[in-house]
Amino acid sequence: MLALQGAFREHREVLDALGVDAVELRRPEGLGGLDALVIPGGESTTMQRLLDTSGLRAPLQEAIADGLRVLGTCAGLIVLARSVLDGRADQQPLGAIDLVARRNAYGRQRDSFEAALEVDGLAGGPFPGVFIRAPVIESVGDAVEVRAEHNGRPVLARQGRVWVTTFHPEIAGDLRVHELFLQDVA
Ligand code: GLN
Repeated sequence: MLALQGAFREHREVLDALGVDAVELRRPEGLGGLDALVIPGGESTTMQRLLDTSGLRAPLQEAIADGLRVLGTCAGLIVLARSVLDGRADQQPLGAIDLVARRNAYGRQRDSFEAALEVDGLAGGPFPGVFIRAPVIESVGDAVEVRAEHNGRPVLARQGRVWVTTFHPEIAGDLRVHELFLQDVA
């Protein structure tokens, strides 16, 4: 897990439950030994600033280009996007997945909500999607495969080895989205 900021401990609990040897990434030196990386929810502006100050930005971009598998949830999705709307002026995403994300797009009344999501490739019924100040995916490029939608908008998508969710699978009490991602890693 990228452990600069945000909900990485919650991801660790899920990964522990799945028997994954999860480690916390804070410095470029840690990148070498990873099979996959989770970028958690949190605050994307802060996370991006810490990517710069830790020196992780360029090596991480390189590792993703070299095929590192990544799951970005909520703020993690914003960090991985090609472009971000309603971000801070200096907010530079990594450009690892061809989509446009709009921050905090659900507005105040719907700051947080839950929705049952039909996820393509997930057996066992709908997945409990927990949305917390979630971004909206405004558009995706042709190479992006949408696996779940809510109100006609993509909420789970992948492009090659980069997976993203606008919701928080790590606090759903349901391991299946992480399992889906990890199957892809195997
Ligand atoms: N609104 C946050 C951001 O823009 C994301 C919220 C979250 O990760 N729960 O970074």
